[in-house]
Amino acid sequence: MSWESVEVDRNSCNGCGTCVQLCPLDNLRLGEDGFLFVKYDQCWYCETCELECPKEAIKVVMPYLVR
Ligand code: SF4
Ligand code: SF4
Repeated sequence: MSWESVEVDRNSCNGCGTCVQLCPLDNLRLGEDGFLFVKYDQCWYCETCELECPKEAIKVVMPYLVR
């Protein structure tokens, strides 16, 4: 599943919640279905979620202007 800033591979995500706890903007949530989703449409593109995910299930998609 893909949002503007973060892509999540649902087949890889195990719902551990690490990214939810580490996001400095409190941007990520686990849904009742156990899968990650983006609650707020804001992101600093710090890549913490991508780097710390134990399953390599997140990819941060940087807009062209931020790269
Ligand atoms: S850190 Fe990775 S495996 Fe854990 S909830 Fe986030 S996306 Fe899923
Ligand atoms: S890149 Fe940073 S700000 Fe954006 S969702 Fe991941 S941890 Fe949060």
